[in-house]
Amino acid sequence: MTDITSTDRLSLRNAVLDGLQRLRAAFPLEARLQVAPADLREVYRNVLASWLGATVPQPARFDPERLRSLQALDAVVPGPEGIGCYPFSARPTGIHVQLPGGAVQAMCAIDALAVARLAAKTTEIESVCLYCQSPLTIRQEANGGLDHDQADCARVVWEATACEHHSCSDGLCRHIRFLCKDCTPPADSQCYTLPQAAAIGNAFFAFQSALRPTGPIRD
Ligand SMILES: [Zn+2]
Repeated sequence: MTDITSTDRLSLRNAVLDGLQRLRAAFPLEARLQVAPADLREVYRNVLASWLGATVPQPARFDPERLRSLQALDAVVPGPEGIGCYPFSARPTGIHVQLPGGAVQAMCAIDALAVARLAAKTTEIESVCLYCQSPLTIRQEANGGLDHDQADCARVVWEATACEHHSCSDGLCRHIRFLCKDCTPPADSQCYTLPQAAAIGNAFFAFQSALRPTGPIRD
């Protein structure tokens, strides 16, 4: 194993900062919620709290008008299976995240790597390589960290794509996927190590922790 030089470290960190900036530019979720009215933020917080308890929130529990407003911001993704809320998907995505309370699905690979820190729970992510379909299992610590074995077991590819959907879940998310160690990503894609992708996801979703009430999760 070669030593990582300070230049390498700098370029690894720059890749994380670039990735975070690209993600926020493509999908400014935090910025949209910052200026959303308090009643919408409250519904959003409760939808998220349900997911963190590994329960898929159902539309019947929430005010339809407020849900529609949150959907217009693409902050939630209501559907027949329940209400998706980034990083969690109510629709099957092929990216499973095991939480102590049950299994959930993540919108994309970066989202899956954000769940452990949001839930403050150890997770196990199960998915397949986007290109060869080989199964991948990634264990992540409750602080969002990955131990040495896990850090090198897969990567995350972000494929070049045009933004042509209203909902990020139908566009961008389908192009940010796990990749095995052996497959070569397309030349025009970005490829991240798991720790880099986790750092991007943890930073992107950090605002959700500040939104959450400190008391017990309520309906
Ligand atoms: Zn592969």
